[in-house]
Amino acid sequence: MHSGDGRVSTDPIVIVGAGHAGVQAAASLRDDGFDGSIALIDAQRHKPYQRPPLSKAFMKGEATPESLVLRGDDFFTQRRIDLRLGSRVAAINRAARSVRLAGGEAIAYEHLILATGAVSRPFSMAGADLDGVAVLRTMDDAFALRERMAKAKNIVVIGAGFIGLEFAAVAVAFGHRPTVIDIAPRVMGRAVSPMISAAFEDKHRALGATFQLGASIAALEGADGRVASVRMRGGEKIPADLVVIGVGVLANDMLAREADLEIDNGVAVDAHLLTSDEHISAIGDNASFPLAGSGRRVRLEAVQNALDQARCVARRLTGRPAPYDATPWFWSDQADYKLQIAGVAFDVDDYVARGDPQSGRFSVFGVKNDKVVVVESINRPA
Ligand code: FAD
Repeated sequence: MHSGDGRVSTDPIVIVGAGHAGVQAAASLRDDGFDGSIALIDAQRHKPYQRPPLSKAFMKGEATPESLVLRGDDFFTQRRIDLRLGSRVAAINRAARSVRLAGGEAIAYEHLILATGAVSRPFSMAGADLDGVAVLRTMDDAFALRERMAKAKNIVVIGAGFIGLEFAAVAVAFGHRPTVIDIAPRVMGRAVSPMISAAFEDKHRALGATFQLGASIAALEGADGRVASVRMRGGEKIPADLVVIGVGVLANDMLAREADLEIDNGVAVDAHLLTSDEHISAIGDNASFPLAGSGRRVRLEAVQNALDQARCVARRLTGRPAPYDATPWFWSDQADYKLQIAGVAFDVDDYVARGDPQSGRFSVFGVKNDKVVVVESINRPA
C-alpha cells in the first residue's frame, strides 16, 4: 500500500502481546509519527504490567498491581491505541493478512508485530502436577505464589537461574530457609562468569538458603494430591510443601509456527527484526535474531532488549530503517546484591575482576580476542 508521499503505508498495524515489547512498539510508533490505526491485543485481562517486580518488590508485598502498570489508561486513549485485553489471537491468516481472535473476529493488518513473549518451560517430572508446585511468569502466578509462600513450611526451588534465586532471596527475607536444586554445578551458570556465580551462591548461603548443585531429581512426591517432598536420584527426600519451578522459559512462538513462519529457537527474524514474511515482525522474548557482531543468532529474555527491539521496528515502519544493533543489558536483584550485565558472554577467553569480591562491590570483564565483550557487575554500576 503506498501513500501520496511515496512512502509505504503500514496502516493498520496489529500488535499481538501487550508486554514490555508490544506496549513500547505501540508507543514508539506514535512517537515516530505513525498516524494509522494500531490494535494492541493481549490474552491477559490485567492492564499491561512490568514483569521483573513479580519476583522482587511485588513478591515482597512492596508493590501493588497498580504500581506495576506499564502505562496509565489515558495513555492508550490519548494515543488512539486500541488496547484489547482478554482477547487471545488464535491464528494468523497470512494470505488474507488478518488475525483471528479466539471469539472468531478477524482483524486485518498491513503489518503485524508478534510480541508474544515466552512461557515457562514445562517441567516434565513425575509429580510436577501436584498441588503446591508453582511457576512464576505472570501476575496471576505471583499472586498465587505470594499466598502459598506465606503458608509454606518447607520451600524447594528447582532451578538456580535468575527467577529461582530472586524468589529464594524473597523467601529468606520472610524467614524461610529454601533449598535450591539445580542439575548444573553452579548458579546462573548459563548466564554469568564463575566468579559471579560464586559470589551469589555465597550470598544466598549466608542468608540461609541451602544448595544442591550438580544434583538430579527423581520425582516430586505427595499425599492426597499435594506435594510433600522432592526425592533425589541418590534417594534423599527433601521435605517440601511448596516447590517453585524456575527452569527457564520457551519462546511463545505457537502462532508463528502454525502460520509456517521460520522458527529457530523462537520466531526467526533478520537484522531488521522482520520474519520470513515481510508483513510480519517479531520482537522481545519470542524473537531469535542475529546478534550484531557476534555471527550468532540469539533470543534474549530481558526488558531492555524488548524495548530496544520495539523502537527498532517502529523506526522501520515509519520510514527510518536501521539494523538492530543495541548492546544487550540485563539486571537481577537478589537480597542486597544488584547484578547488572552488559553484553553477552560468547566464547569468552578470560575473565578479569576489578574491585574486591569480599566487599560485595566488584565487576568482572569477559575478554575475547583482547576485546571486552561482556561486563558483569555487583553493586558497582559505574
Ligand atoms: P511478555 O512480557 O511475556 O509479554 C507477552 C504478552 O503476549 C503476554 O502478556 C501474553 O499474554 C501475550 N500473548 C502471548 N500470546 C498471545 C496470543 N496468542 N494472543 C494474545 N496475547 C498473547 N528481565 C530483566 O531484564 N530484568 C529482570 O530483573 C527480570 N526479571 C524478571 C522476573 C520475572 C518473574 C519474569 C517472569 C521475567 C523477568 N524478566 C526480567 C524478563 C522480562 O520480564 C521479559 O524479558 C519481558 O517481559 C519480555 O517482554 P515481552 O513483551 O517480549 O514478553
